[in-house]
Amino acid sequence: MPICRGCDNEVDRLVSVKVDGKAKKLCEDCADRAREEAEVAEQSESVVQGMMGFKGRR
Ligand SMILES: [Zn+2]
Repeated sequence: MPICRGCDNEVDRLVSVKVDGKAKKLCEDCADRAREEAEVAEQSESVVQGMMGFKGRR
């Protein structure tokens, strides 16, 4: 079983998602989230974070 590098869970399959120009293999949940985060980051570095219910990544 592949392991998602985003959440460290074993998942049925991984999907490739581009984050910051790099392809990452993540489970579908993490891929969705990474895509959203990447879009948000592109639009605005910090302004949008509060609105989106961001859970801090660090
Ligand atoms: Zn994951």
